Amino acid sequence: MEPIRCCIACKTRKNKKEFFRIVADNEKNAILDKNQNINSRGIYICKDKKCIDNLKKAINKNKIKLKINVDDRSLLEVLEELGEEIWEN
Ligand SMILES: [Zn+2]
Repeated sequence: MEPIRCCIACKTRKNKKEFFRIVADNEKNAILDKNQNINSRGIYICKDKKCIDNLKKAINKNKIKLKINVDDRSLLEVLEELGEEIWEN
């Protein structure tokens, strides 16, 4: 059975392969973990524009406590790229 994870924005639980996984490196830079195999604590978010926008808003308003040690600005950049990727598909 595939592990179940929870979206950081909408809290929906589903198979982790259905999410984007984001981790932070030692310099607190956010990285999209495309293969979901980086051995580091990660956050999961739906491949959904709404969830990405909601997370961006929460970060900008400082309204979310992230479980990974990541620089906000770097995370926002990754989210921006993910949002564009979704539009293209
Ligand atoms: Zn979600």
